[in-house]
Amino acid sequence: MTQISSKIRKDFPFFDTNKNRANIIYFDNAATTQKPRVVINAVSDFYSSYNSNVHRGGYLLANRATEMFELTRELIQKYINSKSKEEIIFTSGTTQSVNLVAHSFIKKFLKKGDTILVSKMEHHSNIVPWQLACKQYGLKIKELALKIDGTINLNFLKKIKNTSIKLIVFQHVSNVTGAENNIKEIINVCKKHNIYTFIDGAQAIAHKKIDVQSINCDFYCFSGHKCLGPTGTGILFGKKELLEIMPPYMGGGEMIDSVNLQNSSWNKLPYKFEAGTPNIAGFIGLGKAFLYLKKIGLHKINALEQELINTLYKELKKIENIVFYSSAQGSTICTFNIKGIHSYDLGALLNEQGVCVRTGHLCAQPATKLFKTNSFIRISLSFYNTQEEIFQFITCLNKSIKILLK
Ligand code: PMP
Repeated sequence: MTQISSKIRKDFPFFDTNKNRANIIYFDNAATTQKPRVVINAVSDFYSSYNSNVHRGGYLLANRATEMFELTRELIQKYINSKSKEEIIFTSGTTQSVNLVAHSFIKKFLKKGDTILVSKMEHHSNIVPWQLACKQYGLKIKELALKIDGTINLNFLKKIKNTSIKLIVFQHVSNVTGAENNIKEIINVCKKHNIYTFIDGAQAIAHKKIDVQSINCDFYCFSGHKCLGPTGTGILFGKKELLEIMPPYMGGGEMIDSVNLQNSSWNKLPYKFEAGTPNIAGFIGLGKAFLYLKKIGLHKINALEQELINTLYKELKKIENIVFYSSAQGSTICTFNIKGIHSYDLGALLNEQGVCVRTGHLCAQPATKLFKTNSFIRISLSFYNTQEEIFQFITCLNKSIKILLK
């Protein structure tokens, strides 16, 4: 293990805990990442020393909780370079962020007969909420054309003549192939057609530089647990001028200004969209996750990841009858099948050897069909994985293939 890798791994208690229990190789980082000690300690510290609600009490502990909670908003605002903290809405994850926009934005900005562009590459959470909203508000979904690698076909977008198309929703990076959409170009084309843009950044936030002002999207969202933070935390970035007009998504405490029995008025941004007691500990932890990411630096993270990807593909390519759905170009996601073997069988044998990989349709059934298969094996790496783990994984994989092809 290189010095950098072993230093980084010491920051993650998960590896230490599992060292003596089993020979765990965690290669399912696209599903959720491990958490650095600073995140775990921040969550624990909140509950053990200043647990209290935010934005309510006027006493010392409650003020500290509010300050730490709001500090995360500021850190994320700076990290993704949004214009103001009002544009950073705390949600429970990508899924809730999509649902929020699918209901609140559509209600105000779209009308019966309007069309939303969605592609077959999207995660279910960036398809189903739009379907539900379309059914409720009488809108249509139109299929977005793709290139062979599953990224959005810009030529299709450029030729759009249908003026009923009002919104395009798409992923920054695919959870199936790891391929990255050229989000800036897509948005440039959409702006020319007056199409609003919503980006699912769930698989990008831990690996890519995100600058929402430079991207110029209307909405961008991600989950905290996929970028070293606690589960149950998520972010929705939205342009202030849109968020201000959008009606609340959920009603309750915190999101109101004044309440009468028949009518109420709403709190200012971002609180209008944050009804009820939030995941306070989680968001305090998320702030630490972003500080940690910043301390390591995306440059170093990407360099470490690229070395791992290179080794992984080099070794996998030696395996007979392997079919790749991803490529080694800059993505930490590697998806494949071995001809004649079901991914579940392979996943089960890998599991017996302590290897954690994802198998199945990866919450992307339309994409699975697009690639003419019914399931995949997905390896998703993170900068804290090691070269040694890759070699060990390859040994386990070869052993499993040998057993299954006997
Ligand atoms: N979009 C993509 C591309 C994803 O990979 C995921 C998680 N697998 C989601 C959305 C949903 O994220 P969450 O379950 O954290 O809401």
